[in-house]
Amino acid sequence: MTGGITTAREKSAPQRAMEKLGLLRDIDLALHLPIRYEDETRITPIADSPDNAPVQVEGVVSECRIEQRTRRQLLVRLADGSDSLLLRFLNFYPSHQKTLAVGQRVRVRGEARNGFSGREMVHPTFRAVDAHTPLATALTPVYPTSAQLPQAYLRKAVAAALARAPLGELLPPGTVPPGLPTLREALHHLHQPGPDVPLATLEDRSHPAWQRLKFEELLAQQLSQRLAQRERQRLRAPQLLAAPAGLRDLLLAALPFQLTAAQQRVGDEIAADMGRAADSAMSSAPGAAPMHRLLQGDVGSGKTVVAALAAAVAIDSGWQCALMAPTELLAEQHFRKLAQWLEPLLSARGQTIAWLTGSRKGKGRAAMVARVASGEAALVVGTHAVIQDDVHFARLGLAVIDEQHRFGVAQRLALRNKLADQGGPVPMEPHLLMMTATPIPRTLAMSYYADLDVSTIDELPPGRTPVLTKVFADERRPQVIGRIADEVARGRQVYWVCPLIEESEHIDLQIATETHAQLSAALPAQMVGLLHGRLPAAEKSAVMALFAGGQMAVLVATTVIEVGVDVPNASLMVIEHAERFGLSQLHQLRGRVGRGAVASVCVLLYQGPLSPTGRDRLRAMAETNDGFEIARRDLEIRGPGEFMGARQSGDALLRFADLADDAPLLQLAREQARVLLQQHPAAAQAHVARWLDSRAEFLKA
Ligand code: ADP
Ligand code: MG
Repeated sequence: MTGGITTAREKSAPQRAMEKLGLLRDIDLALHLPIRYEDETRITPIADSPDNAPVQVEGVVSECRIEQRTRRQLLVRLADGSDSLLLRFLNFYPSHQKTLAVGQRVRVRGEARNGFSGREMVHPTFRAVDAHTPLATALTPVYPTSAQLPQAYLRKAVAAALARAPLGELLPPGTVPPGLPTLREALHHLHQPGPDVPLATLEDRSHPAWQRLKFEELLAQQLSQRLAQRERQRLRAPQLLAAPAGLRDLLLAALPFQLTAAQQRVGDEIAADMGRAADSAMSSAPGAAPMHRLLQGDVGSGKTVVAALAAAVAIDSGWQCALMAPTELLAEQHFRKLAQWLEPLLSARGQTIAWLTGSRKGKGRAAMVARVASGEAALVVGTHAVIQDDVHFARLGLAVIDEQHRFGVAQRLALRNKLADQGGPVPMEPHLLMMTATPIPRTLAMSYYADLDVSTIDELPPGRTPVLTKVFADERRPQVIGRIADEVARGRQVYWVCPLIEESEHIDLQIATETHAQLSAALPAQMVGLLHGRLPAAEKSAVMALFAGGQMAVLVATTVIEVGVDVPNASLMVIEHAERFGLSQLHQLRGRVGRGAVASVCVLLYQGPLSPTGRDRLRAMAETNDGFEIARRDLEIRGPGEFMGARQSGDALLRFADLADDAPLLQLAREQARVLLQQHPAAAQAHVARWLDSRAEFLKA
């Protein structure tokens, strides 16, 4: 702002916070559903207040005083004739004392329990009332929100939007499964449930109101994916074919191992996509529709070589290949591996591999960018730096994205658009291969991704000894350190992973630093390294190089090594605070060991006490090494809302439906999407617009 003039159009902080949450249109707010409800429709006598469950009571303050115990606190006694209740505030302001002065009538919500002096509540919410203040007539919704957006503000905004939003039926009769309410009814039921609606039915997502929302959501996803697929069908990608005795064959011959049957099969699937000829109807076009394929394979299943072979095919056909990885470490490792395999073969043909990351700047970068633009760099490996505006490809034919869920949709779009700059008679796009080690079960993937072909590597290379996983309480840390000493004495290497606490990078570093000091002291003759997100890139790769080279025996790291690092001599992995990690994250981490022929162990150290879910999760890790099985259990234990949710995919695709529980609804949505597009294309468009609006653009990526 210049001049400090506030205009009427300027947005308030809560408005900006709403926009940040994607709550732009009335319909967005109407579809923003409560995470839970509070029952303010009734007053419970203090004497009947349950233990440790939310309750609302009302009474008159009989005592209000500040006490100095271990810390200053405000103690308020409230009486309602049935009993009295002590309210305890550890943080309080003068306004508290005013509202809670002796003789005041207040309504209080919180969880009661038995304390030293009878029933008590810690930090309840409260408000002043008089004897006639009416009770709420509906359950009070509690919405997911952010710190800048007060619950009360959001509640009003949702209620107003719900009244305004155009919620008329868009779908022709017969589309929605029988017995479900209209969208309007479903939303009113969930936002403003009457006082007699049992809380359990609101939380139980099998209720018809929930079913309607889930069906609508799945239908929107299926429709938008089919629409995107249709659009992609109109685009053309170059036809990429391996040359006889070309780069692909040379690479295969140079590999120190045989491909597994699964690698062979997925390689063929990819080659078939890329090698399709132009349809005869469009004979002027250079090739068929671009590949849009997800390659899933467990950690260590050997996806990199599959990508390298695909790259070789592209290069054989005279096109460039770009490979993008989410972190600098991972990109560097890909670069090394691919360079080792391909550099000698490429240089014989006068071609090179370019390497682009954020930390490469100045002349070095300019030289790389020039090689990409001239086409001399047949293969371009890097991080997000690969898609920056100043990077122009001479002939980009294939884009490979590793750990695809780590990239935002915008970045995937940008990579695809790199070919569009190049002009030509028909809109062109590169082929796209996305790789992931966070698989979802195959049948689900096939029915969910209407717009994505899925290839699955379901077999590990031979000679791997399965990792033995042990779960220990943190009290056994000294024994674990003893085990490290044994392992190191045998010439093996050890990872020790500390959790990354997102809210507090500071604490995260503290845990890692303390552990590093402890291990350095316990292993005085050994090199113990420390790797964390705050280190400058150059230092990170120096540490990694020492570990990869075998000079460093123990590497203490925060989760920066989560994906892709390949050090076959590492045989022991310790994960501290394992209870704080997600299952698939633990599986990824564990995949860093067991890469060679030596028997490897993964120790999950936890800080008790564990919740029942926590125990199940760690047990699942100890019981299986199969990434697909772990993905399945993860779905069971956590629910796929989280599984597929924002944390893993970068942009949450499903908010309401649950891929595991709702497979039958998904099936119905799939069928109806096909029918709608054929018979009611306008209704299909309207439905997608209602549900996805600007997000639909993104789903095409
Ligand atoms: P991921 O699928 O997790 O990306 P990588 O591609 O990093 O796995 O492969 C893991 C390790 O297995 C690498 O060291 C790689 O060279 C090796 N590898 C890949 N394919 C085979 C194979 N068919 N036989 C033996 N080793 C293989
Ligand atoms: Mg990998």
